[in-house]
Amino acid sequence: MSETPPMTMIPDETAYAEAVQLAVDASAAYYSDGTSTLDDDSYDRLVRGIEAYEADHPEQVLPTSPTGKVAGGAVVGDVPHTVPMLSLDNVFGAEQLVSWAASLERRLGRPVEAWSVEAKLDGLAVSARYRRGRLVQLVTRGDGVAGEDVSHNIGTIVGLPDRLAEPVTVELRGEVMMTAAQFADACDKRQAHDGTTFANPRSAAAGTLRTKDRPYVCELTFFGYGALPMDESELAARLRDLPHSQIMEWVSGQGVQTTAVTPVAGVLVSTLEEVQARVEEIAAARAELEFGIDGIVIKCDLAADQALAGFSSRAPRWAVAYKLPATEKITKLLAVEWNTGRTGIIAPRAVLEPVELDGSVVTYATLHNAADIARRGLMLGDSVTVYKAGDVIPRVEAPVVHLRTGDERPIPIPEVCPSCGDAIDSSQERWRCVRGRACRAIASIEYAAGRDQLDIEGLAVNRIKQLLDVGFITDFADLFFLTRDQLLSLERMGETSTDNLLAAFERAKGQPLSRVFCALGVRGTGRSMSRRIARHFGTMDAIRAATAEAIQEVEGIGPEKAPVVVAELIEVAPLIDKLIAAGVNMTEPGVEARDVTADEVSDLPLAGMSVVVTGAMSGSLEALSRNEMNELIERAGGKASSSVSAKTALVVAGEKAGSKRTKAESLGVRIATPEEFAELVASFL
Ligand SMILES: [Zn+2]
Repeated sequence: MSETPPMTMIPDETAYAEAVQLAVDASAAYYSDGTSTLDDDSYDRLVRGIEAYEADHPEQVLPTSPTGKVAGGAVVGDVPHTVPMLSLDNVFGAEQLVSWAASLERRLGRPVEAWSVEAKLDGLAVSARYRRGRLVQLVTRGDGVAGEDVSHNIGTIVGLPDRLAEPVTVELRGEVMMTAAQFADACDKRQAHDGTTFANPRSAAAGTLRTKDRPYVCELTFFGYGALPMDESELAARLRDLPHSQIMEWVSGQGVQTTAVTPVAGVLVSTLEEVQARVEEIAAARAELEFGIDGIVIKCDLAADQALAGFSSRAPRWAVAYKLPATEKITKLLAVEWNTGRTGIIAPRAVLEPVELDGSVVTYATLHNAADIARRGLMLGDSVTVYKAGDVIPRVEAPVVHLRTGDERPIPIPEVCPSCGDAIDSSQERWRCVRGRACRAIASIEYAAGRDQLDIEGLAVNRIKQLLDVGFITDFADLFFLTRDQLLSLERMGETSTDNLLAAFERAKGQPLSRVFCALGVRGTGRSMSRRIARHFGTMDAIRAATAEAIQEVEGIGPEKAPVVVAELIEVAPLIDKLIAAGVNMTEPGVEARDVTADEVSDLPLAGMSVVVTGAMSGSLEALSRNEMNELIERAGGKASSSVSAKTALVVAGEKAGSKRTKAESLGVRIATPEEFAELVASFL
């Protein structure tokens, strides 16, 4: 630990502007709905970095800086707005919208005739000043009263022409932002320049807008949402009294981009029900958009209504922002997992510190491939921006380089297939196991034959590969149809090993349902979950007949996991049918007794007890694997658990039992030696 508090290192003006934007967004989120995009430490580190940069570069201090102080005499935000650029009040949900509209109509003394409903773009508000049809000045919002001149961006902003169709003197207001494609391009350019990327499209737009002399140019996009005529021409006088919707038509007729060209175009409606319906349409379209939106703006369309409603000290009374849940947040990249898919594709997956996004908790996110990780310059331990909207699979957008602490480490890249250990074909961006589809077959058959599943002795990996190669099997159910002659025809396969293997297949057919089910490799159902499912349903038929709702009755299966299990069961249906045809056992022994009455269950020696096993087993339990111990506990009516808590009823502690035993002692949990335990469950051994 260093003596001075850690701070973000900010190397240049672009990074400074981006850092200010990240800090402003974090505190805005915190004050609007209490969910900041940054944790307190990260925020403090960022603000200390901003302070340090401002101390060295007082002439660059932004009016929006969270340090809240403008360096003495520094010229910042010196362009006063003709009319203040106010922000909007927020509502969160339909109920608040209704009460907002009711209070507005009370003030007006009449119902609002026409509502304009349009997407609220997630960028930076700017004012574009046109003199006699020519774009002469571009000003940021700044503190709303005065902004900064960013006219050097004129010519690099798509949708904001240098010249309007008519020679009018007008101030256009709108949002400057980056589309997904512009953001990707900006990240590539910055990566090539200094090896870093932007955290998200919004902060990238802020950094780009602000910086004057950058050796690379990043394109921006403008969408107009308002016009203020500035001269006394006849046209200006006419514009002044037009409804908002017609002003927007005029703006678009001048060659300026508006959301009219997007799937979230503004619409005009007359009732609040219609407003709510359009809000929902826009929210639903969000995931497919090429740019970010963070809400919906609802306005009185008529100029007369706007004039009558007027302004409060901080916002117009005739408009409100209906906020949508965040689709992007900053969280920590904890680990990267590499998995080989069913087709042999090897893909990385980010393991994240859980973060709530658009209504659900995100723990994993897509990382496309190794090249993509390199391109984004991601490191383990990085703070990263994560994006998720609607049903879109969450993705890691970029690292937030401003929040690095120096403890970040490179992401380990696999050298062999994580599934089978064979070589990786990395000739394409999407890596593949050299075994292709067969890779997963080997791994899944090996898993099914494993000690904790069907426990088929003598079936080594190279034998599985051999059987697949000659085409005798395609999955593990085919093992049960192998003939003696087929096995004998294999290279290096003698009579004795053939007979041993056939005997092992025969034994495997009699395994309890819990193990047969586990062998299927259904996602999210490991050994203990498979036991719970088997004990709950008793037969494979009952499991297959279960709806997602019925499956949720199994302890540990929630509403998210249940449909996955149902879907996977449908996928492996042909495999199950083949196993049934081979005569594999499809029932769980002893389950009927459990299901009959609660009395019979409570007769079991471990009824209702949560049991933890730790240390080395001895005596009659010595040969049992941990999985077999857990099976034993559950046969005897108990529940096997891996961690000790106040709910633990019994800890079986063998030699070299460590922290679990200590914890059990401190909690006063009953502890048994393996021998004592063996006696307790003797009839189930
Ligand atoms: Zn492989």
